Amino acid sequence: MPEWVSTVVLADRNPHWRVDLKDSLRQELWPSTLQPIVDKILSDQRLGHEDGLQLFAEPNLFQLGRLAHLHKQAMFGNRAYFNSNVHVNQTNICVLACRFCAFRRGPRSKDAYALSVEEYLEELSKFSPYVTEVHSVGGLHPDWSVQHYAELFKRIRAEHPHLSIKALTAVEVKHLAQLSDLSIESTLQQLKDAGLTSLPGGGAEILDDDVRAVICNGKESSQEYLDIHHTAHKIGLPSNCTMLFGTIETASQRVDHILKLRDLGATTNGFQCFVPYPFLPDSTRLPMAQLSTGQEILRVIAVSRILMDSIPHIKAYRMNIGDELAELALQFGADDIDGTVQQESIMHLAGSTTPLTHDRQQLSKLVRNAGCVPIQRNTTYTEFEEYSPPQPIKRLPMA
Ligand code: SF4
Repeated sequence: MPEWVSTVVLADRNPHWRVDLKDSLRQELWPSTLQPIVDKILSDQRLGHEDGLQLFAEPNLFQLGRLAHLHKQAMFGNRAYFNSNVHVNQTNICVLACRFCAFRRGPRSKDAYALSVEEYLEELSKFSPYVTEVHSVGGLHPDWSVQHYAELFKRIRAEHPHLSIKALTAVEVKHLAQLSDLSIESTLQQLKDAGLTSLPGGGAEILDDDVRAVICNGKESSQEYLDIHHTAHKIGLPSNCTMLFGTIETASQRVDHILKLRDLGATTNGFQCFVPYPFLPDSTRLPMAQLSTGQEILRVIAVSRILMDSIPHIKAYRMNIGDELAELALQFGADDIDGTVQQESIMHLAGSTTPLTHDRQQLSKLVRNAGCVPIQRNTTYTEFEEYSPPQPIKRLPMA
């Protein structure tokens, strides 16, 4: 098989960002707590675990945010990215019962649902003219094998050829492989051949098996998550990656998580975007969760930007953190605010109140409010266009 040439390497990122970053770092005064980290960046040393801990402990949140923002500015200038997408969650029936999950239902639950291929397409067709991407994740259905999803993706491609399909988290891929008695690689290849464009990053939670044993027992292990994404990249499927924080993890486990993803990203160039998002407590079964404040959410985004040099984009996931905090996050290292997301179940069942009806005009206003230029992108960060809202119609003066 020919070596895959990743389209993700640049993803609209300034190829000289490290040089530009160093120029801007030299022009500022840094607190003594951050100076050793700035010195490392200036001397081209890669940041490590201890640096990550230092960043999480930094007392001056605004200086930390400034350091992250200078990284973002060096990479993308004032640009901030979004896309036009719709979430269709194909089923809430799941054979697992992760403790943090407010979405899953057992097959006999009165509000369990599973969209047939026809029902899914009917739902999608309501939004298809307005979007360029369908994002689909859901429960681990006990009967749906790879054939079900291959048929679904082929039908989407045939009936909505303008749409990219970003679908199936790592644990869903593992489940399909097991049900279909296939390797991970064959499973992903069949899905790709049927039309899958990329994998979302969901399900990474915290890549520490002790934490996973408590919050999502039975899910794929940390290494399996990494291996599934590695395999996806190997066959030419780019992916995102995530971090669910604010459950029971320590700062050290967060840093480990970020560095594991950074290292894989450096190996494959297959990760497009890192999406750190906080645990939302409502309706879920994790009473010992620490829960994140607004400050903590901004801190995680800032630290992620500073450490994650191999993954171009950092997303402020407005579906989870809300529009106001997402706007602020664009000044703390994030450069992407996800998409229009016409409908969504998973975060909203967990307590999110983020509006679902944003059109491009409203999203671009949010981006401009944060002092950035809104750039509409496609799923794979290979096409970009500055978004300008339609001009108001000029009325001619009455004769
Ligand atoms: S997080 Fe995913 S795998 Fe876990 S219970 Fe919820 S739907 Fe199932």
